[in-house]
Amino acid sequence: MEPVVRSIAERLAEGRPLTEQEYQTLIEQREGELTAFLREQAVSRRRAIYGNAVFVRGLIEISNICKNDCLYCGIRKSNGQCSRYRLSEQEILACTEEGYALGFRTFVLQGGEDPFFTDAVLEKLIGQIKRRHPDCAVTLSLGERSRESYERLFAAGADRYLLRHETAEEGHYRRLHPEALSYQNRMNCLKTLQEIGYQVGCGFMVGSPFQTAAHLAKDLKFVETFSPDMCGIGPFVPHQETPFAAFPAGSAELTCFLLSVIRLIKPNILLPATTALGTVHPRGREMGIEAGANVVMPNLSPVSVRKKYELYDHKICTGEESAQCKDCLQARMRSIGYEIAVDRGDIKK
Ligand code: SAH
Repeated sequence: MEPVVRSIAERLAEGRPLTEQEYQTLIEQREGELTAFLREQAVSRRRAIYGNAVFVRGLIEISNICKNDCLYCGIRKSNGQCSRYRLSEQEILACTEEGYALGFRTFVLQGGEDPFFTDAVLEKLIGQIKRRHPDCAVTLSLGERSRESYERLFAAGADRYLLRHETAEEGHYRRLHPEALSYQNRMNCLKTLQEIGYQVGCGFMVGSPFQTAAHLAKDLKFVETFSPDMCGIGPFVPHQETPFAAFPAGSAELTCFLLSVIRLIKPNILLPATTALGTVHPRGREMGIEAGANVVMPNLSPVSVRKKYELYDHKICTGEESAQCKDCLQARMRSIGYEIAVDRGDIKK
């Protein structure tokens, strides 16, 4: 390791903030020795807080209907090849029942921005889940809504909200999204969610089209200053029916490197080893955990709709029953010396 790089890496490992330029240097100068150093430091910091526990979140993909047209996303409204679905309240509740029996204590309701899911519909749904399973956390991942809406859903019992910022560079944001969506609004939503009292997750894709090391450095600076409870990062994977069909997928290697850096920026953060990471590499999720992640999100959606929630090509975990999905991840975690924890898996402050 170059002495300059070593000094930056050591300061990061000591919990000191870096400049944007220093984050960029780490990304650009990364090689085997630096990667191994940050990985070991990240795992040891995480172990001190969470031991060998990996938290699970049961992911329920409630709708692939979306009014937005994000250029990277397979369920964008312009994709006429996408076969659309929306789960009924009964179907969603059945998923939570099944998930509860399997040991899940967090349910993540994720979907496109489907106008059917008004505040009233979601309030009722969240209320039902919380009444049936008062010991469970409910996480929402339903995109951009108004402050009033976020407040109502929080009052109805939602505990957490995942809203990836996608990229912390405004010009880059514009190249990934249609005109109707703005970087400012996305960032304002994140701030609002934090103010209301949600446990909040931001995040970004690794290797998205036009992304540079300088953009990623901004993402890391944003994670450092925003200090989210969770951060979802995964490689960009092209979808054939989008304008980005011909762009290459992001790498598992860079994703894992960034997982280590984020763990060191905020040692108690909840950091998933994502399905996208498992899609670009057969051991992606294991590698993610070994780089510093501590969350996995098995799919609890009905098998009949899983292939339809196709954000990107070749998405894994679309053919199995929920129980199999959970068993598979449990076996994968055990194979690397970790245990899945049966509790809500809140952040340890
Ligand atoms: N509508 C919600 C949920 C979006 S799907 C929202 O706006 O937050 C969840 C995440 O999947 C997105 O935030 C995005 O980062 C990721 N995603 C979408 N398309 C992808 C692709 N082609 N490759 C990798 N990740 C993708």
